[in-house]
Amino acid sequence: MDTIVALATPLGRSGIGILRLSGKDSLKITKTLINDEDFNPKPRFANLRKIFDFQTKEIIDETLITYFQSPQSFTGEDVIEISCHGSPVVIRQVLDICLKLDARLAEPGEFTLRALANGQMDLSQAEAIRDLIDANSIAMTRQAIRQLRGEFSHQLQPLKDDLLNVIVFLESALEFVEDDLPELELENIKNNLTEIIGKLEKLTETFQAGKLLREGLKVALVGRPNVGKSSLFNALLGQDRAIVTDIPGTTRDQLHETFTINNIPVSLIDTAGLRETFDTVEMIGVERSKRIMADVDLVVVLLDGSQELTVEDKEILSLIKDLPYLLSINKIDLINGNSQILSELESATNNMQPKIINISAKTGEGLNKLQTAITQPFSTPDFNNSGFLISDARHNDLLLRAKSEIENSVSLLEQKMSEEIVLIGLHNAIRYLGEITGETTTEDMLTQIFSTFCIGK
Ligand code: GDP
Repeated sequence: MDTIVALATPLGRSGIGILRLSGKDSLKITKTLINDEDFNPKPRFANLRKIFDFQTKEIIDETLITYFQSPQSFTGEDVIEISCHGSPVVIRQVLDICLKLDARLAEPGEFTLRALANGQMDLSQAEAIRDLIDANSIAMTRQAIRQLRGEFSHQLQPLKDDLLNVIVFLESALEFVEDDLPELELENIKNNLTEIIGKLEKLTETFQAGKLLREGLKVALVGRPNVGKSSLFNALLGQDRAIVTDIPGTTRDQLHETFTINNIPVSLIDTAGLRETFDTVEMIGVERSKRIMADVDLVVVLLDGSQELTVEDKEILSLIKDLPYLLSINKIDLINGNSQILSELESATNNMQPKIINISAKTGEGLNKLQTAITQPFSTPDFNNSGFLISDARHNDLLLRAKSEIENSVSLLEQKMSEEIVLIGLHNAIRYLGEITGETTTEDMLTQIFSTFCIGK
């Protein structure tokens, strides 16, 4: 396999920037980079070395070089990590030289793909690395670490073993038993399969919570100008903003901010940009905001408690009436808790009695209540204490398919169908379970999965 190279840290000015080489020529390329053909590094020890442009002999940077000898490396191949000073210009130069020396720029996830190919980890562990990097809550990182440490694979293994035992038994019955299987044997097999189905079910039952943990909630904040949307936005983000979105290298969409409530990532969409929409009752604008709101799990409509309900407020309320929403009355610090719009709201919402939370974005009053009200409808387990959760739709889909195949086989057994027919579903089931850990995954599938990784991982 050719030798690949990529930046392992985000490109930007920083203390250090790490380039990683993997493949049989990693050491050879490094020797040329540091202009020392006798370089014979002790594995896993840092070496302070200058890097040169091999054509001009100019010094480019002073770096720390670490050698991970095959197979004791992340990819299982010879790996070199070069810690450069974190200058995008320097890093670009070193990267270019590596490319001139016949290294190839790594594809997204290619380091992990090689680790998988070399048996350093299974597919669900490789996916856990991606999930760990992409996680936007502490709870999600915990789940990813559990998966990375093989918790999911370890739970699956006994299931696969049990299923395989049944398959082997039926196969041999097919070969050696002339008559039908005795009733007792049949009962045994059915019990074993039912037990496997139960365990699969237990795993898939965790998916709802796992999905919430991974994807979080999408919440849109709407309201006419000056009701306090930006103030609330900032108050809700609080300190979490620094944790989640100020990380260099993550892109920020002006309309989106992500923060966590009870460990659930909440993506808050501030529709401040849609103000004009409500100013001018322009059709296109309304359509656009409708589309955004139709795509979220919850719409929070913000109203100004210190003023009467306006035409614009009513317009917004009619726009969201069929969506999941809650009302929040802001600026209660100005009105001593006596909002005059409450009675008006009753008629504006056709007495639907929506959830109303009084808040002050300015003083912070009621914000906790609002936060709880946002996540409360999405039955949330305690993410800190819950066990391993299935959070990947791919895994859940495969578990469900395996379960349905086994259920089908059980029903065929009950109908006294021949072992041959019963076995088809069981073979399918074992294949589906194998796809989770990568034993029976096709090349195409791997390409698709690894395209979701970032470059340099
Ligand atoms: P937006 O246009 O909806 O984003 O509203 P802003 O967040 O810009 O707020 C409009 C004005 O209302 C600003 O002067 C804020 O300081 C003020 N404001 C926002 N929330 C509160 C609140 O809870 N109490 C008081 N007294 N003023 C607020």
